[in-house]
Amino acid sequence: SSLTAVSVQACFDYALRLYQARLRSSHVQVKRRWGEEQVWVHADLVRLEQVLVNLIGNALQAMADSPEPTLILGIEREEHQVCISVTDTGPGIPEPYLSRIFEPFFTTKSPGSGLGLGLSISSRIITDLGGRIEATNPPGAGARFTITLPRDEGPD
Ligand code: ADP
Ligand code: MG
Repeated sequence: SSLTAVSVQACFDYALRLYQARLRSSHVQVKRRWGEEQVWVHADLVRLEQVLVNLIGNALQAMADSPEPTLILGIEREEHQVCISVTDTGPGIPEPYLSRIFEPFFTTKSPGSGLGLGLSISSRIITDLGGRIEATNPPGAGARFTITLPRDEGPD
């Protein structure tokens, strides 16, 4: 894997384009919580895209019965790191599962709709990139996944 300056906005845009049809047909409102300025992480473009695709896919599945499905995507730049978050308005993650969802083959989905590998692969990717990934159930929302990655100054 090649580590370069990767635009987090571009990765989110890629993932959103992939799910464009589903977002529209499921009437999902997307809130992009980031500014005009590009935020860069020191990462592998394709792998970060893969992780965001996994997280957004899970969020969309979790919001299948949500009356007002809302996907909140966040990018927060800190001095040395960047926090990237994906929050949904689904039921959240049951407390007893919080410590197990990153294990390979852990799934609460019926056979065929989930293998239970997405989060274990995502967590492996983020760890390999020198970052970390956490799951929480913030008040007033469903589940939130927060990725922290080393910041990059940008390609110039
Ligand atoms: P899969 O999606 O194939 O089940 P994952 O590794 O992607 O496997 O996720 C593991 C489990 O974590 C899911 O089966 C589900 O129980 C839980 N989970 C993941 N994302 C969410 C979410 N956004 N809301 C609620 N539960 C989630
Ligand atoms: Mg999944």
